[in-house]
Amino acid sequence: MNVTAIREQFPILHQEINGHPLVYLDSAASSQKPRSVIDAVMRYYELDNANVHRGVHTLGSRATDAYEGAREKVRKFLNAASTQEIIFTRGTTTALNLVASSYARSVCGEGDEIVLTPMEHHSNLIPWQQVAKATGATLKYIPLQPDGTIRLEDVEETINERTKIVSVMYVSNVLGIVNPVKEIAAIAHRHGAKMVVDGAQSTPHMRVDVQDLDCDFYAFSGHKMCAPTGIGALYGKKALLEEMEPIEFGGEMIDHVDLYESTWKELPWKFEGGTPIISGAVGLGAAIDFLEEIGLDNIEAHEHALSAYAYERLSAIDGITIYGPNQNRVGIVTFNIGDVHPHDVATVLDTKGIAVRAGHHCCQPLMRWLNASATARASFYLYNTEEDVNRLADALHQTKEFFGYAIG
Ligand code: PLP
Repeated sequence: MNVTAIREQFPILHQEINGHPLVYLDSAASSQKPRSVIDAVMRYYELDNANVHRGVHTLGSRATDAYEGAREKVRKFLNAASTQEIIFTRGTTTALNLVASSYARSVCGEGDEIVLTPMEHHSNLIPWQQVAKATGATLKYIPLQPDGTIRLEDVEETINERTKIVSVMYVSNVLGIVNPVKEIAAIAHRHGAKMVVDGAQSTPHMRVDVQDLDCDFYAFSGHKMCAPTGIGALYGKKALLEEMEPIEFGGEMIDHVDLYESTWKELPWKFEGGTPIISGAVGLGAAIDFLEEIGLDNIEAHEHALSAYAYERLSAIDGITIYGPNQNRVGIVTFNIGDVHPHDVATVLDTKGIAVRAGHHCCQPLMRWLNASATARASFYLYNTEEDVNRLADALHQTKEFFGYAIG
């Protein structure tokens, strides 16, 4: 992988922040966008912009082709069987809420169980809490091992005949761990439960095949994988999506409307009420082309190497705690240095042009499990280099000296 050539395609990376060349290590929150994606969105607005599925005029059909063409790219990217199984959403959060509000509320009742893990992002936690409150179902958690991983024996113990839904993140946005979602899906199915996968942190970084995983639903966000904000998708097995009721009603999603009754369009449009995020879908299609050209396997290997190098360099810093195991992880390294608050670490790093995330990362239950109120997180993507890791490690050494009193 020619990272120098890849970096050339990201205009934002070539600037100084606070007098230093930018080192962007916050891609798990949101990735940067390559020129091809920026151009595709601009070209769409300059040449093709119109509403979709309505106009008979040329721009209307160009916009519709661009929007539906992007859906086909997502289908192929995830290896879904049909474009009817790809619902465009605002992102992972909206996709998971759609499953919770439409599917889960209709199948869960008193005595039923929904199985999660304590490492879930709030987006894959709170929608299920709301379902539990509304239906009388109970939430159950697969316990974590001391290093944050989950064991299949524990999955077997947690899932039973009362389980209706199992929802697990493929990759942890804090620990960088890749969870065995394919094996969990098989266990869920043996008990008649449905498997939901939060793919926010997996889709950008590794090859995903929803048919191989045999998950029932899969959610992801475009902005973490080089696409614009405001676009993502929900994959769902066709038979399940067909059973489900829409949760948003209005234009675009109807077949026939009468004064007292209406009927819905077929899949996937019945779930896409209102004018959709057309330019976002165009940008997502361009991002998929960009990632496919480089190769998801190459991206994954590059990030594995970078995070192993980062783990090695950061472990050498006195007083540092790195969370999660040093194996089977994507490009995410989460840490604390002594008693220094991670916001202070991130602020000092910013003065040196280095962008990392600090906070609870939308994982408050996991933070409590880690016994940390917050952490700092460096996350890598295809445009990061060993030099970025060196800059981070060197700056952290200086941070440690700066805050030496708190590290002891
Ligand atoms: N799930 C995980 C694991 C995430 O990391 C994130 C975002 O950080 C989300 C869900 C929510 O994604 P979005 O804010 O794009 O809906």
